[in-house]
Formats: sequence, structure tokens, C-alpha cells
Amino acid sequence: MERLQKLRASMAERGLDGILVCQPENRRYLSGFSGSSGWLLISGKEAFLATDFRYVEQAKAESPGFGVIQTKRELRDWFPGLVSDMGVHKLGFEADFVSYDGHQKLDDALKTAQVVLELEPTTGLVETLRSIKEVEELELISKAVELGDAVFQKARDIIRPGITEKEAAWEIEKLLRQGGSEGVAFEIIVASGPNGALPHARPTEKKIVSGEPVVIDMGARIGGYCSDLTRTLFLGQADRNMRKTYDIVLEAQMAAIEGVTSSMEATQADQLARGVIERAGHGDQFGHGLGHGVGLAVHELPTVGPASTGTLAEGMVFTVEPGIYLPGLGGVRIEDIVVLHDGKARVLTGAAKDLPS
Ligand code: ZN
Ligand code: ZN
Repeated sequence: MERLQKLRASMAERGLDGILVCQPENRRYLSGFSGSSGWLLISGKEAFLATDFRYVEQAKAESPGFGVIQTKRELRDWFPGLVSDMGVHKLGFEADFVSYDGHQKLDDALKTAQVVLELEPTTGLVETLRSIKEVEELELISKAVELGDAVFQKARDIIRPGITEKEAAWEIEKLLRQGGSEGVAFEIIVASGPNGALPHARPTEKKIVSGEPVVIDMGARIGGYCSDLTRTLFLGQADRNMRKTYDIVLEAQMAAIEGVTSSMEATQADQLARGVIERAGHGDQFGHGLGHGVGLAVHELPTVGPASTGTLAEGMVFTVEPGIYLPGLGGVRIEDIVVLHDGKARVLTGAAKDLPS
């Protein structure tokens, strides 16, 4: 279990002799367990998966490296006994996922059982490991990306003037599911005309009109791994102003893809695209970061934006998705997924991004 070894190394660096993991993607990443409820308790030597009776059989099948424990109704009936048997003294927990109430319950259970143990908040321990993809993970992401590409190709034929955003989103969802996607990676965005000025618009009853930009953002999920793809379409002849905007966004996106390197600060990568958009006079209309990591979660590390603090690294998979949003008129966003390989970005996405001239 290479992932557990890496986790144990970062636990040791922080002086932790145990960690409690309940964030769903972190749980799945470490154990393979895909159920929706359960705790991992990992020490230097042991690894347990505690889940309720609904999931015990599934947990045993999916997580052979873990001792599976059936939880009881109250935390105090199983948790303090287990951590004390494991000999843990300083237990890390996921501070950005365990709620205030959840923390109090852990604390109360330990006190009631008179188990002396330090609960230590941690952030990003497993998420950091997840940001560097293994070969098998990259294969699953690539499959999800390929499905997204194929669906987009078909969607281009379905989306015609007069169809509503909601209808278009539903057609895309059907195509994704027919193609083998496990549900959708996230709520599909189809935002036409002025609606496209909202980066996270929800599909409405608005009918799509010829010539206006249509922002389509969607993703598949294969083997738990997500893809994320945005294209901006024009049905018929593109509006001239928006066509110009499209060219700027595409230039910005290509500048980032071509310029990014494996050891760059994430802020520098963001600036590669942002610089192009700023020089074109649209800096204020690119109000989000360049991209985000994609894996078991559709948004994960690395964060690639103007306020990022991290450095990029070989094996990271993330989106490159600059956009320009013009209130009242519309938006343009173009999003690909790249992997950092041999020092540079390799684009996984294959969907066309040229506009009919
Ligand atoms: Zn997206
Ligand atoms: Zn995205």
C-alpha cells in the first residue's frame, strides 16, 4: 500500500501517530472503499475501516488492506476503544471536513471512556498526495476525458437554435450516461447569451439563439475519476464582439498550456493566461483562477489561481480554463485538462476548439 506509506511519512513529519480520515474522496483514495459513510483509522502499523452494517460487506470486498470494523450507534461504543488498542496518542483529524459538532462528539467519546488522546487538526494531508496522479489514476481520468470529448462531439449536432438550455443539458447528461459515465461529475452548465456572463450559471428555459455564445461545461466520471470540459459554441455566425473575445480567451489558454512547466509556482501559471487577458483590456472580467486539480473530486489540489500558494509538480492533473465574462452580453470560457509530464503540460482533452469561420 504505497499510498498509506506516503501518508505515514507525512504523519510522522507532523508528529502524529494516528490519523482519522472521513472525507469521502480521501477515504476512497486510501482504502478503495466507495461507500458513502465510514471512518479510516490509520496508525504507523495498522489500518482500520469503521463503517455501519449497511456497508460492512462492501468494505471487506473493496478494502482488503484494512481491518473492517462495524460501528455501533454511538461513537463512544467503538471509537475510544479502537484508538486506545491501536496505541495512538496524537490523532490527526481533517479540520476542514470534521464539523464543530463532530469534533465535540469525538472529544466527548474520548473523555467519557477516559482515553487520554490529543486530537490534532490537520489540513490537506491526503489531498496533497492525491494531487500527484499514479498511472492507473491517469488512465481513468483519460477515459473520463475521452467520454467527455465524444459526448461534446455529439452534443454539437443536437444543440440547434430554439432548444432550451435545460433541454440541451439533459441531452448531454443522457449522452454521458449512455456512454458509461457514473452519473455526471457535476451539474452540467449550458449558458447562452447573457446567461454566459455568470461563470456558474444554471441551465434555464431560455432558448438558444443563433450567433450568441453558448458556454457548455460538463464532465464524466469513470471508476470514480472525473473529467471537466468547457467549450463555447456559436450556432451560426458568431457575433463579432464575442468572436474577438473568443480569440483572446483561446490565446490566453494556449499561452498557459504552452508556457506552464512542472516546477512553476501556481500563480505564475495563472499569470501566463491572465497576462494575455489583461493586455487585451479584460483583466477585470476574468474573475476566477486559471484552473483546479481533477481526480476523484472534480475540484481538488492543485489550485491554480492568482492567490495560490503552491508549486506545480510532475504528475499533477489540472484544468486550464480562462474566461471572459461581459455582463449583459455573455461569456467565453475554454477548458482543457492537462497533466504535467516531462516538465511540460500534455493536453488530455481532444474536443475541438476552433470556431467555424
Ligand atoms: Zn468545467
Ligand atoms: Zn473546471
